[in-house]
This record gives sequence, structure tokens and C-alpha cells, in this order.
Amino acid sequence: MGIERVGVIGAGQMGTGIAHVLALAGLDVVLEDVNADALSRANATIEKNMHRQAARGLIKDDVIAPALARIHASQNLDAMRDRDLVIEAATEDESVKRKIFQELCPRIGPNTMIASNTSSISITRLAAATDRPEHFIGLHFMNPAPMMQLVEVIRGIATDDNTFQAALDVVKRAGKTAAYSEDFPAFIVNRILMPMMNEAVYTLYEGVGNVEAIDTSMRLGANHPMGPLQLADFIGLDTCLSVMQVLYEGLADSKYRPCPLLVKYVEAGWLGRKTGRGFYDYRGEHPVPTR
Ligand code: NAD
Repeated sequence: MGIERVGVIGAGQMGTGIAHVLALAGLDVVLEDVNADALSRANATIEKNMHRQAARGLIKDDVIAPALARIHASQNLDAMRDRDLVIEAATEDESVKRKIFQELCPRIGPNTMIASNTSSISITRLAAATDRPEHFIGLHFMNPAPMMQLVEVIRGIATDDNTFQAALDVVKRAGKTAAYSEDFPAFIVNRILMPMMNEAVYTLYEGVGNVEAIDTSMRLGANHPMGPLQLADFIGLDTCLSVMQVLYEGLADSKYRPCPLLVKYVEAGWLGRKTGRGFYDYRGEHPVPTR
């Protein structure tokens, strides 16, 4: 199955990055979102980030205009009609994703592959919400997609070999490295990373350290490039909470209990960088810890 025309659903942080990567790889991309502002932000971000990559010598200047011309924004799933592969990268909420698949399936050809970029939700269960579980797969790009080398590839119970091979080919064409993960809650990276970040929030909640002490400790004491609270803000606290809930419910183990302080930040709408405030306040010139 040759993949040339790709659709990306959701023009948030991840959909934007995935569209960027695939357009640079020479694929034709339809980027769809229900929110017009998200689409215009995505366009501006992709252009800015491609110029940043060129300034760093990572890509040539003259590839930018053709790559941008390969990205078509849309607010309508009808635009997915002629796609070979549709990658769903909408909000990490199973009901949102199920509804998208219900609306998408009647609009696309029977051989179109569907992938989800979910960070944690069962690929087998999402596949069962479509009319083509055998052509469904998890393609979990990391954030920011243009910079991060890994893509986790997750087969659902019904995913066929052709779909798996086509997914590996797309990852290779995008210049990324695939790691295969079995379909269990949060796969590999987030199964390990999210409980560490949740523990950092517990450390804050219990007053063991403040935001600055916790992040400095992990940056300088464990040599992590970002502190765990800084990273949580970068990922989005709503996404972190959703992943912890999937781990907690999916593995039925209290060690995955989301920290009540993480819940409180999400309930406040303090979702991290994308809303201007999380464990840090980003509204000024420099991020300021909120605790
Ligand atoms: P985000 O909040 O930045 O963007 C989500 C986008 O989905 C929004 O623009 C929203 O308007 C759109 N959306 C919601 N409902 C929609 C619908 N019905 N149709 C079309 N668009 C719709 O979220 P994100 O961080 O980009 O995450 C997207 C997905 O990628 C999630 O499944 C998340 O778990 C996964 N993911 C996130 C990260 C990360 O670090 N943030 C990393 C890897 C994977």
C-alpha cells in the first residue's frame, strides 16, 4: 500500500507537528480541525518552525515553500475522501475520538488506513469503533514531532500485516525511528514517563519541594533535559491527567492514582504552556513558578 495522501485530524500541538513532518517528507497533507483558530495557528506555527529548522541548517530553505503548499487546511471531514492514511490527533478523550471515527468512516474509501496518535487509549478498543479494525494502527509521534526521533507503533489485536508494514514505511519516510509496543495502557514511553511526572506532582502536593526545587533536582540530579513539572506543562496537564486515568483504570493499580493537585490544575483550566499557565505562569517574559 503506497501512502502519498495523508489526513491529520486535530490541529493542536501534535497534529501541527505531524503535518509539518509529513509535508517535509513529500506527502500531501490535509489538516482538519473543528476549530478555525487552531488551523490558522497551525499554519503560522509550521511556517515559523520550518524557518527555525532552516536557520539551524536542519533543512534547506528551498524545501519550505513546496512543503507548505502540500498542507491543506480544512474544517470538514469530507476533505479526507481521497486519503490513503488518516491520522487522528484530536483531544485525548475516548468519546471525542470515537465520534470522529464514526463520522470519518463513511467518508473514506474501504482501503484507507486509519491511525491514532493517542498517548494511552487502547488501539484495539479504538479500532473496534471503526468499520476497519484490520486497517487501524497506533502511530504515536512524540512532542514536538519535528524534533523527536521516536514514533511508537502499536498494533491492535486485529491490525493486519499490510497495515503494520505501511505504518513502518511512513515512519521511515518521515525520517523517524519506530519502536514497536504491544497494546497496553499508555504503551512504553508514557507508561514509564507519566507516573514519574505524576510522582513529581505528588512531591509538590506533599510539600517535599516547590516547583523550582523539584525541576532543578531532576535536571541537575538526574540529568533530565527538562524538569518533570516543566515537561508536564509542555505536554499539557489535561493530556497528562487523561493518560494517568487510562493507566489507573486500565491496570487497576492504585500506584497510578492521578495526584489530586494535577486534577485541580486541570479543573482550573491551567493546562500548561498552551493556556499560558500551569506549574509555571508563562504570561510574562520568563516562566514564573505558580507554587
Ligand atoms: P491539543 O489540545 O493541543 O489539540 C487537540 C486538537 O484537537 C484541538 O485543536 C481541538 O480543536 C481538536 N479537536 C477536538 N475535537 C475535534 C474533532 N471532533 N475534530 C477535529 N479536531 C478536534 O492536544 P495535543 O497535545 O495535540 O494532543 C492530541 C493527541 O496527541 C492526543 O491524543 C494526545 O494524547 C496525543 N499526544 C500528545 C502529546 C503531547 O505531548 N501533547 C504527545 C504525543 C501524543
